[in-house]
This record gives sequence, C-alpha cells and structure tokens, in this order.
Amino acid sequence: MEIIFLRPGVENEALNEIISVINNTERIIRVAVAYFTHPQIATALINRNKQGRRTHFLLNTSDIIRPVGASSEIVVSKELMKVINEADYNTELKIKSLGLRSRGRYQNMHHKFMVSDDVVIFGSVNWTTAALHGNYECLIKTSDIELIEKFIEEFDEIWNHAQELYTDKGQIRRIMCPVCEDSEGVDFESYGPICTYCGHKFNLV
Ligand SMILES: [Zn+2]
Repeated sequence: MEIIFLRPGVENEALNEIISVINNTERIIRVAVAYFTHPQIATALINRNKQGRRTHFLLNTSDIIRPVGASSEIVVSKELMKVINEADYNTELKIKSLGLRSRGRYQNMHHKFMVSDDVVIFGSVNWTTAALHGNYECLIKTSDIELIEKFIEEFDEIWNHAQELYTDKGQIRRIMCPVCEDSEGVDFESYGPICTYCGHKFNLV
C-alpha cells in the first residue's frame, strides 16, 4: 500500500499515479469520481479510448446540474465535456451518471476512486486542478485483492442502477464564465459559484 498526502504548493505524485493507471492498464478500469476538471486526466482517458481499452466512467450529475435559467441542463467542465464527447456507443469508453435532473431523486455520487483488476486508487482527491495541486488531500493506492474486489463489487452495483448519459446529449453544455468566456476559472466544488479569474458570481437555480 502506498499513501500520498497532498499539501498546497507542495509537489506530489498523485497525478502521476492516476495517469499511470489510466495509461498502463490493459483491461477494464472503473472510475467513480465526483468532480472532474483536470486536462491531463481528460487527455489520458481519451487516449486510452483511442487505444481500444475499456473504461467505465461514473459521473456525479447531481452537483453539476447548476444551470442559469433552465431546469434540465447538465453543466460540466470543459475538460469533462471533452471526455463525454469522446465517448460513444461504439467506443470502449462508457459513461453513466447518477442524480440526473429529478430533484426528487437526488443522489450525490461523491466517490473518488478508480479500480482495475490489479490496483485500486481512492481517497479524498477529486480529479480537479484544485484537489491535485492546491488542497490538503490524501490518496491511497493498493493492490490488496480483497479491497479491489470490494470496490469492483460496489462500482458494479452503482453502475447497474446508473443512467445512460446520452439520451439527452443536447442538454449537456459546458460551464463557462460569461465574462471571461472560458471555463478554466470555474470550479464550483472547490471555490463555490464564482469565476476565480474575474470574480463573476453565477446565478444558481
Ligand atoms: Zn470570469
């Protein structure tokens, strides 16, 4: 077992560990991560798909449905949108979501783990720039077969009840600061509903 403690401003190996598993796992990996904005991880997932290697990716859509003036859109980061656009019915990248739309069935999928047949990575770290480079966090990587089996079992249980993301693809849009016209400064999970570049406050519904 390996444990990494992340601290603001201190170099760490967490991102490398995550990307290494994405890049080096031949067989299926299962990912359940609540918040996703990191460009290098998005690129790694997309490359993995282009290489024909399978990924099951479970999104939290309960907390990222935060549109302005509309009730049924899903708003995601620019990087996550790249991953979503890469996925299709005929690729090895399958995406499902929890917590979609209906407030009466709010389900906050708050996990942060990735599991292959050989290794599981879990901890407090979301796949966001803030988490990986600016927060106090922990990340554990282990090849403990019992833990791996339990994480796979839990993932598959959630996966089987999760919803397909693509039925309303037109209703997914990427979040963008209307002032900067960019999404890089927007990370609701870490900083709340403001643009960290210009200070624009989002009007949430
Ligand atoms: Zn802005």
